[in-house]
Parts: sequence; structure tokens; C-alpha cells
Amino acid sequence: MGTRTLHVTNTLTRQLEAVQTQEPDHLRFYSCGPTVYSYAHIGNFRTFLTADLVVRVAEAIGWKVSYVSNITDVGHLTQDDVADAGGEDKMEKALHSKEGEQFQNVWDLARHYANAFIDDWDRLRLKRPLVWPRATEHMREQIEAVEKLIESDHAYVTPTGVYFRLSSFPDHGKLSGNRDKEQLKVAVRDVVQDDNKEHPGDFALWKLDDKHLMQWYSPWGWGFPGWHIECSVMAMKYLGETLDLHAGGEDLVFPHHESEIAQSECLTGHEFCPYWIHTRFLQVNGEKMSKSKGNWYTVRDLVDGRGVDPVALRYALISVPYGKPNNFTDQTLKDAARNVERMREARSVAESASAAQVAGEDVVGGRLVELYDKALDAMCEDLNTAVALAQALEGAKLIRESLTDGGSADSAKASLLFLDQIDALLGIAPPVETAAEALAEAEPVVEGKPIAEWIALRTSAKASKDFATADQIRQTLDAAGIELRDTPDGVIWKRKTSM
Ligand code: AMP
Ligand code: ZN
Repeated sequence: MGTRTLHVTNTLTRQLEAVQTQEPDHLRFYSCGPTVYSYAHIGNFRTFLTADLVVRVAEAIGWKVSYVSNITDVGHLTQDDVADAGGEDKMEKALHSKEGEQFQNVWDLARHYANAFIDDWDRLRLKRPLVWPRATEHMREQIEAVEKLIESDHAYVTPTGVYFRLSSFPDHGKLSGNRDKEQLKVAVRDVVQDDNKEHPGDFALWKLDDKHLMQWYSPWGWGFPGWHIECSVMAMKYLGETLDLHAGGEDLVFPHHESEIAQSECLTGHEFCPYWIHTRFLQVNGEKMSKSKGNWYTVRDLVDGRGVDPVALRYALISVPYGKPNNFTDQTLKDAARNVERMREARSVAESASAAQVAGEDVVGGRLVELYDKALDAMCEDLNTAVALAQALEGAKLIRESLTDGGSADSAKASLLFLDQIDALLGIAPPVETAAEALAEAEPVVEGKPIAEWIALRTSAKASKDFATADQIRQTLDAAGIELRDTPDGVIWKRKTSM
């Protein structure tokens, strides 16, 4: 189609490469989603935003995108990354915490945080994937995959579970470079030793545990799946046996993605995914985010708690290219808010000029086309958001300077086109939408109550920290085809056009 293509730094080769899709102009893309045992933090969203930008760039260059991002709603273990299904169950731990008191059980808890996650996703204007598969809804497929791996000798059963046999897959380590078996022992094995395993580096596909709060019946007994198998199964179910591109945060390279490759390639006998991208961690004030340091922020802490404009938060999180560490500070957020304000001002100036319909020359269009092209080129080059955002700001400045004292209808048209294109590419120049405008539509009645009444009930439930009721209301409206959005101007509702 177009002449542009997307280049990424491929973790597999550590090179900047043009993504060659299997089918021309069609990207099959999988991005690892959140584990829903608490609210996702802004670091998680940095990683999800990288995936969002991939989708936006691919669409901007005319590709069709099949985008899948999972929701891990199975209680995996607190030390999965180092101890392979060792430690405490994350969901169970959350249920027994102070915040967990509001939930009846782990299922309720997972549902609550999954809904909250989707709310945050929408508020930060991430594009919704084609499918949002949940691990708990793909248990049969996971069990079948484990059975297949056992049949082909890539896995074995012990009294504690089913393990993947690393020695059966010589390519293990190709993503992370972690091929040294002794190192693997340290990396995977440190905390929990399971004498039933053939090699300490073998990882769990199924853990037997009839005390686990979330458990399923399998040919090996009651238990739950290992952490990695869900992504192999769900990626291949929705995207086919070979994907084009796979994304996640930097901590997922090993063991999660390495294990996904091992399982998938042993299941199909061919390559699982040729291109991988990993987002560097977000730091806050130069430090790793941690609850104990008090530098741990969720989207709602900032947006609901501190009145931060969600578009400004989005801007701040994407302002540094994904391959570089992003140090998030108050200043980052202030700069982002000012820049988003500039984008909004440009739009309002362009809209006024458009409404005035003054005849005259287009004095901005040529330059705006150049700026958009430069922004798109930068995004095609390993998602260089720093350069792309600079073009967006320069365009906004030109629009403000040229149209503030009135401009021609043609200049206004070119300006609005630029802002729409920039918004489609980066999501930082939203159309003007006020609560009043949204409410101007005829107000629907759901279960006998007008929508405003539902919104008021939800607001007061949230104020008294009754998040379960607030979510229940959101779900009731959702089922009636009404979507709620929290905006800086208050809560607005919309009729859902698609899922
Ligand atoms: P989790 O919910 O823990 O499964 O994490 C969801 C995604 O967020 C994964 O891709 C992680 O790699 C990523 N992630 C976790 N912490 C951070 C961070 N501080 N910065 C960027 N990404 C992160
Ligand atoms: Zn995954």
C-alpha cells in the first residue's frame, strides 16, 4: 500500500529492523496485558501505550491491524518471575489485604480490577484491541495445549504438576540470550526447589493445588495453569500460529516471553514470532516505582486524586521513546499538561476560524503536511515519539499564530486535518468534547432510571469508596449499550458504537 514501513528494535536480533508482515499490509500483533489483582500503575500503562502507538502507526501507514491483548485474571504467584510458580497467589494476597475487604471472593476481585483497567485504558485514549481475551475464559485451550506438549515429550507430569522440558527445545534462550543452564538455575530456581523436576530450569505448565482459590479440573487433577501458557494459547487462537509482532515490558523477556516461544514452537513446529519489542521501565523521580517508597501511582491516583488531565498523563508517558528509560517527575507532568493545552488551543482557534468561513488563501496547509510527514516518519523509525511530538507542537504553534486573529476557511480546514491526523497518530490532540455537549443528546433511561441518576449514584458510591457498587453501575449501563467516561469536565456518557 503506502511506501512507509514500521521499523522496530527487535529484541530477538537487537537490531533496528523493518517489520515484514506475513500477509502484505496486515499486522498480527499481540501485547501482554495486565494481571488484574490491583489497579494498573502508570508504569504498566507506559508499556501498554507502546502497543497503542504500534497500532496507531501501522494504521497510519495503511496497514490493517489485528491486535490482541490479554487480561491475566488467574491468580499467579508473587514470585513467578524468579521462582516459577512459587510464592503466594497474587489474587489471594490481594483479597486478604485491606483493599480486598470489599470483595466477596477472588473472582469478584479480578472482575473489579479488570473493569477498572478498561476504564483507565479508555481514559488514556488507548485503542481497544480486536480481542481482550481473559485467561480464565481459555482454560480448556490451555489444558489441551499442555496435553499436546506431554504427548510430544516436550512436557512431563510429576506429583506436583506438569513441567516443560527445557532440554527438548534447544532454541531456548534465543530471545534473552539466557542460554547458560547454570545461570538458568539461578534465575528461575532460587526460591522454590521442586525435586520432582528433571532440570531446575524446567518451568510449570500446570500446578496441582486443590487449595488454590481459583482452580480447575484437569487430566492431572485440580490446579491452575502456569503463568506463560495462556499467552501462547490466546495469541495463537486469535492470530494464527505465527504472529508478526509481540510486545511487553522489559521484565517479560525472561522468563515469560522465552517460555512463550518454547511452548508455542514446540506446539506448532515453526516460528512463533519474528519481531519482539520491549518497553523500558518507567521510573519515578529517578527511582524504581515501589509502594514502600511512596512513588507508586495509578492512573486514578493522578486523574481522580490530583485532577490531572488524562491526555496530559498520556503525553507524559509517551514523551520518551519506549527503548529509553523514562523518568517521570512532576515537571514531566507539568510540561505535558502545558503541551496538551497548546494542542487544545490550536484546535479551538481552528474551529473558530472554520465556523467563521472567511474566504482566502490556505497559508498553513503546505507546512502542516510537511510536519505531519516528519512526525509519521519519526514514528515509523522505532516509534520516535520525542521527534513526533515536537512536530505536533510546531504545527500547533503555527496554527495558533496564523489563525488566532481569524484565518481563512481553507487554512482552518488544513489545520483541523493536521490535528486529526496527529491525534490519530499520537492521541494527544482530542476533539473538543464537553460534558454539556455529550449530555445534549436525548437522555436514555436504563432500568427505569435516567442516566444522570445513575451517574450521580456512581459518583457518590465512588466518593464513599464503594467501588463494587460503582463498577456494578458501570456494568449495568454497559449492558444497556452506554459507556461512561470520566473527563476533566465530569462524567459523560456515550452510546457504544462498537466494542
Ligand atoms: P503485570 O500486570 O505485572 O503483568 O504487568 C503488565 C505490563 O506492565 C507488563 O508488560 C510489564 O512488563 C509492564 N511493567 C511493569 N512495571 C513497569 C514499569 N515500571 N514500567 C513499564 N512497564 C512496566
Ligand atoms: Zn504474556
